[in-house]
Amino acid sequence: MSEDCAQLTTVGVYLLDALERDERNAFTGHLAQCPQCRSEVEDLTPVVHLLALARATLPAQLHAMHPNKGPRRVGPASACGPWC
Ligand SMILES: [Zn+2]
Repeated sequence: MSEDCAQLTTVGVYLLDALERDERNAFTGHLAQCPQCRSEVEDLTPVVHLLALARATLPAQLHAMHPNKGPRRVGPASACGPWC
């Protein structure tokens, strides 16, 4: 069994577009020669798209479900869970 590429942990950051320009350029160069990281990018790309979709739609849905439209309350924990 071969060692995991040390750059594998960078794949998620790369897909979330959270790398600095220099890091991104370096990682893009790395991708061209590392089949392990390319495979990880292919595996994670649908997940990143789902996250983007969730980010775009979920807050509106949560907001619609929330009984209090005002600012977040400070005080004892309410009955509606961590979203309040
Ligand atoms: Zn790699």
